Amino acid sequence: MRKNRLIACILLPLNLFLLTSCSEVAITGRQQLNIVPDSLMNSLSLQSYNDFLSQAKKSTDSQKNSMVTKVGKNVAAAVETYCYENNLSDRVKGFSWEFNLIDDPNENAWAMPGGKIVVYSGLLDITQNEAGFAVVMAHEVAHVIARHGSERMSQSLLVDMGGMALSQAIAESPAKTQNLFLRSYSIGTQYGFLLPYSRTHETEADRLGLIFMALAGYNPNEAVALWHRMAANSKGPKPPELLSTHPADQTRIANIKSFLPEAMKYYNRSKTIY
Ligand SMILES: [Zn+2]
Repeated sequence: MRKNRLIACILLPLNLFLLTSCSEVAITGRQQLNIVPDSLMNSLSLQSYNDFLSQAKKSTDSQKNSMVTKVGKNVAAAVETYCYENNLSDRVKGFSWEFNLIDDPNENAWAMPGGKIVVYSGLLDITQNEAGFAVVMAHEVAHVIARHGSERMSQSLLVDMGGMALSQAIAESPAKTQNLFLRSYSIGTQYGFLLPYSRTHETEADRLGLIFMALAGYNPNEAVALWHRMAANSKGPKPPELLSTHPADQTRIANIKSFLPEAMKYYNRSKTIY
């Protein structure tokens, strides 16, 4: 009995802590753990982004560069409008969007809080056209708006650093904290765009991404064609679905098809509003 009370005493504050540290993902309504302030995540992001860019080789292909920037700006504008109209402006607060194409054959792309987006030129061989690329751009922006990196960072702080506050972690172990951050955003991982987040996060980013590309005026049906090309062209290794954190291509395509009716409503509306 006493032991039970003792366990309850330990668990109760933990439950309360987790309860008060939850936020809700836009559109899907999923509850997520979030114990890191956006402002700190943005400054960690800026530091990692600048470090990365100082060593990366920027693409000199002006046509591809302008396509990446054009799609990026379209998606960012649509997402900002959506956030302001739905009382989610804190999700893009302090953002200063930047879109970079780097000369690298890997099929990779990532987005960090603060609106810093990096695309590897290898991915453009698969996206092929503007709408195909909008699928990728909107998917990456969706990870940021859904705060997937912050959720993973929060989990890492709990598991690896005993629930330490982010500000304390930065002060006491800056290098370790920076590494956790990079891991949380799958930056520098071997499989890049294709095996980055958990299945829950990937499926959520696919659903939100379809809506965001639709709001930017791109037909979300393009996502099905893109993921077929991705499945056929991927150079990366493909572990069996059960062993992977990533939904297999066919599961992903089936999920995307089930999300399309919702996204098409936004697409049809975007054509009348914008
Ligand atoms: Zn993803």
